[in-house]
Amino acid sequence: MNSINLEAYKEYFPDSGSVRINHCRAEESNRKFYLTRTETGDVIGYCHHCGGRGVYRPSCTERRTLPTVAVDTTSDDPFKRWGVPSLATWKTCDRWETVPFEDLPLLTRKWWFKNGLNVSEYEDIGVRMLDGNRFTIPLRSSPSWDEVTGVAIRTFKDDLPKWIVLGSKTVHPFTQADTVPDTLVLTEDYCSALRVSRSYTALPLMGISLNSNVFSLITKWHKEDRRVVIWLDNDSRAVVQQAKEIRRQLALTIKCGIILVNKEPKHYINDADLREVIHGD
Ligand SMILES: [Zn+2]
Repeated sequence: MNSINLEAYKEYFPDSGSVRINHCRAEESNRKFYLTRTETGDVIGYCHHCGGRGVYRPSCTERRTLPTVAVDTTSDDPFKRWGVPSLATWKTCDRWETVPFEDLPLLTRKWWFKNGLNVSEYEDIGVRMLDGNRFTIPLRSSPSWDEVTGVAIRTFKDDLPKWIVLGSKTVHPFTQADTVPDTLVLTEDYCSALRVSRSYTALPLMGISLNSNVFSLITKWHKEDRRVVIWLDNDSRAVVQQAKEIRRQLALTIKCGIILVNKEPKHYINDADLREVIHGD
């Protein structure tokens, strides 16, 4: 079977579905070379005359301009509703792509830096780009790095929620510090948690409530000489109320502080200022 280099037929590639063109025989009636855009953005070619085939994988940049994959709005499965492959495929499906930081869209890189985060943190947490265009943070509910139990997808689209969290939103406490810190900081989102994890142990609630899994992770982490600090975004009265409610729930069993400044950890420019807030609460 001969292989066809599809690069030469790029101008005919469809954005979705198939087109029919001539390959080895001329004339309209012999237009039997099919070029098909797959769900993942690849193009496959097949000529019914000569049996020649080819596959073309677009670069991340090219794929970004393609429409996103089909979603099934009627499905009960939230992964299907958002057109996201199941987590069982995290390691095997090439729709989850590891992209060098410098190849991310400019807007995404700017957003990452605006959160005070750096390139090695992007690499360390194992961010993937779904279909080359959806920024996906893997969530792990156990200390095992291999087991991804949820994903947080940042959308960058006005008509969608900022974050789509699928699977379990429980995140095991983590730290970037060399020696295990004696303070655990509960934050609202993952980026804030990553910031505070430079000096402390962090646990993003991925929201403003405490489910029983997270409650049990916190109490397991806690010991006599350790303390827990709650630092939500505090950008509305409701959030502040919720932070107090979380403290009420935790204070029954553990030593627990609360930070009520109206500024999120990720919006601090200097880590030293951030530490001062946490230390002086
Ligand atoms: Zn042919």
